[in-house]
This record gives sequence, C-alpha cells and structure tokens, in this order.
Amino acid sequence: MKWNKILFCAVVLSVPFLSWPAQTETLPNQQSRMPDWNKPFKPFRIAGNIYYVGTNNLACYLITSPGGHILIDTALEESGPIVRANIEALGYKLKYIRIILSSHAHYDHVAGHADMKAATGAQVFATAPDAATLESGGAKGFFPLGNYKPVKVDRIIKDGEVVRLGSVALKAHVTAGHTEGNTTWTTTVEENGKKYDVVLVGSMSINDGVRLVNNPTWPGVADAYAKSFQTLKSLPCDIFLGPHAPFFDMEAKVTRLAEKPGVNPFIDPEGYRKYITNYEKNYTEQLQRERAGK
Ligand SMILES: [Zn+2]
Repeated sequence: MKWNKILFCAVVLSVPFLSWPAQTETLPNQQSRMPDWNKPFKPFRIAGNIYYVGTNNLACYLITSPGGHILIDTALEESGPIVRANIEALGYKLKYIRIILSSHAHYDHVAGHADMKAATGAQVFATAPDAATLESGGAKGFFPLGNYKPVKVDRIIKDGEVVRLGSVALKAHVTAGHTEGNTTWTTTVEENGKKYDVVLVGSMSINDGVRLVNNPTWPGVADAYAKSFQTLKSLPCDIFLGPHAPFFDMEAKVTRLAEKPGVNPFIDPEGYRKYITNYEKNYTEQLQRERAGK
C-alpha cells in the first residue's frame, strides 16, 4: 500500500473514535472546512411536538404548536438550505417559526441565525452574554471561536425564564462555562398519553486552548462549569437531546427507532447521566492538571 493511501485510511478510520466523548468544538473560521458536520440528514419526529431538523452532526430542533413554532439552533451559515428543506419536508412553513433560540453562541450552532431570521421573520431570543456574541457576529465572548453574520437579538432571556408560544413552554437554564450564556432548555412532551421530561442540554465540553485556572478573560470560568454540572444533575430527564448529534448518539437511535417504532430510544435518562459524568470527568481532570502546573 502506498503511503498516501495509508495516510488516507488512518485519517478516515480515526474519525469515529475521535467523535465521542472527546469531541471539542473546532478551531476558528472552519465553516467551509467542516463538510463532515454539514451533511443532509432526513428530518424526523423525536417525540411529541419535537422534531430534528439539523444536519448529520449539528442539531437543530423544531418545536411546533398551533400558535407557531420555535427553532433551537440554526447550525452553520451553509447549513441553511439543509435546515430549511428539512422543516418544509416535515410539512411545516418557515413563516410560522416565531422564535429562534440557541444552545450557545458559537458559529457551528448560530451562524445560520441571521439568514433564518430573514427567511422566517422570527424573533431571536438569547441570554445576555450570548446576545452580545450574536450581535457582534461571534467576536465577543471570553473565547471567540469564529465569525458569522451578526444578528439582532429581540429579547434577553434570564436564567430560569420560561419562553412560551402557543402550547409550548421552554425553560432556560443558564449552564455557563462553554460560553458565558450557554443554555440548557427543558420542556415536557406527551407521547401515547404519557408525559416525558425533555432536556436539550448545552455544550459542556472545554474548547481547546481554554484555561480553567487563572483565565485572564474569565477568572470565574471553573466555578461556572462546577455550578452548571450541579444544575444539570438537578434536572429530571427522560428524553435526552443536545447540540451535537454524537452527544446523544442520534444516528444509532434513529436506526433503532426504524427497527422498533414502538420503543422510543430517545427516552434515555441513562445517556443523559453518562453525558454529565463524561464531561464532568474531563473538567475535573483538566482542573487537576492545571492546578498541578501541567
Ligand atoms: Zn460550542
């Protein structure tokens, strides 16, 4: 085998092993260099009125009601055609999307906000720190990752606030650390006459290059992460979702759902607890390494 083939195989074969749980969120300005995260994915109903409309990796959620719809995250700018087509393929109209929310204001989740706002006429709601990042097009924040089209934020959301639209109620839990305004959203859905607690968890990874100890741009970052892990542990969770599909094993669950439609694999409280445990372990280990001066 020639060297270039060996190198190609090594790169290709290593990808699945890098995706979990050590997935961090990229380097600056890599939108067009991330084709692996921007492949079309067939939209589907997760449970109740919650639909997956994102790409193969970058999750976007449509939460529907007769009074209008809410969209959480819009992925990359180049994801726009995929996300819009997914929403329409499910039979929903863009013009009935009234509110656009975010998991957090990094470009891989919100770079599509400006175009989606223009396409739908929706209002953008965000926590105060993430609103500053959104309005600066990714420039503001303790650790800016990459730029995107700035978008005007119409309403600031506080920790614990409930966003209501028609029959939908989504509660914001600020789980700061990954960004200052990183948000975990919770709601309930009904499925076959049963109620389920849904957690759309924020990102809890630590981007490459972020220091937890003596961080000059955010001295409180380590404490923020610690508090956020406590918040996540306090949330009841039946249905576990998050901003990157591999966080909650989306593709495998879609396969299982197709094989056994009567058992909803997205009901996964254990997966949620594992997510918290994995990322808290990463956090604790980095904190210990930094404190030891390594
Ligand atoms: Zn991020």
